[in-house]
Amino acid sequence: MGPNTFSEGKALAVLIVMDHRATPAQIERVVDVIGEMGYRAKPMLGRQRIAIGLVGNDGRVQSARLEGLEGVRDVIKVSKPYKQVSREWREEDSVVELGTGMVIGGEGVVLMAGPCAVEGREQILDIATQVRDLGASVLRGGAFKPRTSPYSFQGLGVRGLELLAEARERTGLAIVTEAVEPEGVAVVAEHADVIQIGARNMQNYPLLKRAGRIGKPVLLKRGMSATITELLLAAEYLLSEGNPDVILCERGVRSFDPQTRNVFDLTAIPLVKSLTHLPIVADPSHGTGVRSKVTPMARAAVAAGADGLIVEVHPNPPEALSDGAQSLYPEQFAELVAHCGPIARAIGRSLATLQEGAVAGARKPAPLASA
Ligand code: PEP
Ligand code: MN
Repeated sequence: MGPNTFSEGKALAVLIVMDHRATPAQIERVVDVIGEMGYRAKPMLGRQRIAIGLVGNDGRVQSARLEGLEGVRDVIKVSKPYKQVSREWREEDSVVELGTGMVIGGEGVVLMAGPCAVEGREQILDIATQVRDLGASVLRGGAFKPRTSPYSFQGLGVRGLELLAEARERTGLAIVTEAVEPEGVAVVAEHADVIQIGARNMQNYPLLKRAGRIGKPVLLKRGMSATITELLLAAEYLLSEGNPDVILCERGVRSFDPQTRNVFDLTAIPLVKSLTHLPIVADPSHGTGVRSKVTPMARAAVAAGADGLIVEVHPNPPEALSDGAQSLYPEQFAELVAHCGPIARAIGRSLATLQEGAVAGARKPAPLASA
């Protein structure tokens, strides 16, 4: 193996950075050579640079052949274990577009709110209207619930998805809801704008693979004992299957103190933003498990740079069929929104609004070619 060969176990990712004056023909030539070498080329037209990524799994790339091509400025090996999610692979923030015109990862901080679970038509339509009027632009609500106990409410299933779709029709809110098994991804994708993968399923690889091929954005929640590297590697499954529209979610990790349900890991937000180009939202509801602590942590998450919040809000929390103790009353959500707006503005952002979302937001640059 010569000095111009990169080798690294099995997984290897290399980024070919093109000269900014490179011609389309030179870019096409690099794509073709990568194909001839037996790899998949992923051209990325960024605002700052044109780069072509190459992911291999046989651990060797003859970089000299690529370095010699016209228009190539640099050939860089991605050093992190996760490749396509890393900042090395893509310098610019990824902006995920939801079907409704909302974007996550742009300047706007997106508020997702709603009950833990869809419990019935009246409940979901009522809370959808309330959270929309208070400033949310995405409605959350589980139709398939991964419950710790098999005797707890498991969700309304497909009926719950239909009710969420009706709530979207009425309010204009985008829908985020969980898929709990690979076979369930398609039906969730049929009704939802964003497919949630829950903490308990962060490392369910068949589920990740299926969600990576479904063509809809995915909200990937951090596992309750997962390291940041494990979270990013789980996200890599989604990207490696062809889905670039991934939103990460910090929702707290398991620790020793029973006074809170989880320890909300605030540092994860700036840490993740430095390691990956993917957006990250915060879930202070599961992060604390305690209603009175949700708004303080929501404020902190916005200050720390979260691209959005996902918050449980119920019309009548004491009667909630799941997670009532951490669910906000609508008035408390109003207060959360009122507090978070000035914090967002203090760091040069703003709370995303439904109307703006339909027209604003940085559009993702289109790929030059797909391979
Ligand atoms: C939820 O969002 O209601 C949920 C089950 O969250 P997590 O997977 O983070 O526990
Ligand atoms: Mn919940």
